Amino acid sequence: MHYVSTRVTSASAARNPQQFSDILLGGLAPDGGLYLPAEYPQVTGAELDAWRKLSYAELAFEILRKFATDIPDADLKDLTARTYTPEVYRNARADEPAGDITPLRVLEDGPQGKLVLQALSNGPTLAFKDMAMQLLGNLFEYALANNNDELNIFGATSGDTGSAAEYAMRGKRGVRVFMLSPHKKMSAFQTAQMFSLQDPNIFNIAVEGVFDDCQDLVKAVSNDLEFKARQKIGTVNSINWARVVAQVVYYFRGYLLATASNEQKVSFTVPSGNFGNICAGHIARMMGLPIDKLVAATNENDVLDEFFRTGVYRVRKSSETFHTSSPSMDISKASNFERFVYELVGRDAERTHALFRKVDTHGGFDLSGAPDSDGDEFKHVAKYGFQSGRSTHADRLATIRDIADNYGITIDTHTADGIKVAREHMAPGVPMIVLETALAAKFNETILEALGQDAERPAGFEDIEALPQRFVVMPPDVSLMKAYIAEHTGL
Ligand SMILES: *Cc1c(COP(=O)(O)O)cnc(C)c1O
Repeated sequence: MHYVSTRVTSASAARNPQQFSDILLGGLAPDGGLYLPAEYPQVTGAELDAWRKLSYAELAFEILRKFATDIPDADLKDLTARTYTPEVYRNARADEPAGDITPLRVLEDGPQGKLVLQALSNGPTLAFKDMAMQLLGNLFEYALANNNDELNIFGATSGDTGSAAEYAMRGKRGVRVFMLSPHKKMSAFQTAQMFSLQDPNIFNIAVEGVFDDCQDLVKAVSNDLEFKARQKIGTVNSINWARVVAQVVYYFRGYLLATASNEQKVSFTVPSGNFGNICAGHIARMMGLPIDKLVAATNENDVLDEFFRTGVYRVRKSSETFHTSSPSMDISKASNFERFVYELVGRDAERTHALFRKVDTHGGFDLSGAPDSDGDEFKHVAKYGFQSGRSTHADRLATIRDIADNYGITIDTHTADGIKVAREHMAPGVPMIVLETALAAKFNETILEALGQDAERPAGFEDIEALPQRFVVMPPDVSLMKAYIAEHTGL
């Protein structure tokens, strides 16, 4: 299995074929594009049937081995078996079977169709990013040990990604994490989750500033290529291919748990920000999984909803990017979207490159086919099953109340966005699976507003705010940051 960049020309691809392990530790391709397999592996009906009997870890192995063809089967089997265990994904609700890893719950089965919730938030940080990040931690440790190398992950977070990365990398040999967050700007719960880690390879840096200051520091340090190379600095952001492919697994799992035969189709609704999660659904569908619709659900930051309604992709300025009650979807552009656009324009890397150059120069592009637009490929979107919708804060409050009243469970704000939009796209005979991307305890402020009471916390999280915290506070100063990293890596 070889990988190509969405912007690469065939001549440079031939010079530089990439295997899974080559792109595992990296982010963007050198030409600024994103990596994709040269073609998608296909899954047969016989395979799907055989996979109905597998555990989550066994299923993950079967799917990943189609993509990570340069990792020996025995090693990959060991990595997936160690990652997808009931001990790691232990925060299932009391009435959910913990061994399912991503258990399904039927909410409604009526004339409108069947509405199903797939829990992806039972990992250590109570959000779906653990599904991929936990595997990444084990893959990184494995790859670094093979090359006798080390890696220093340097990033900025306002919440979910940073904590998922730290819980995945804690205690891993060869890996350190330097994670910047805005000092005193995260919720008490999120702060406690990150700062209570005592592992010596985890460095929490609270920056005196806002999230943008943290991101600017990461950019400034990463732009010093000599420093970056000497300090072996890498990232784990949402464009990482291994993260995307690890997410493909739960679409298969959801499908197999929701159906009895491969004649049956299902649809998925996915609370979306950077298009990483739903991109994995698209890949599962391209592999032959019988998915009918893939519904992108956004909040008020509706870049993706706008595209799937109109064919116009228009990134937002920071002044147009809202702080919402589903903050992990507050994005100004969808960083994985290029992977789908490449497909939509017929895997034409030159067109893809031109379109994303236009994103940089003109803030977007238009594939609607209107006069003066950049193309008419939007007419092919339906072929890929994509639909979309958006929610407002009021919608999410109403949905959280409705689900609590009718089904006795508390859902988080991102999942509420998904359920609100899913209801607009249900069809009789095709189960609609909504991906639950976080547990409510993480976003308690809005739960209090909606229900007048606190969200329940999984066992072990009751007093997390009282645990001792380990972090340093630093001003937003590039040279101080570099000195801090160098001092702690010893490189
Ligand atoms: C990251 C995140 C999302 C958005 O996922 P994308 O892959 O960026 O589309 C949605 N919900 C939660 C809780 C998240 O942490």
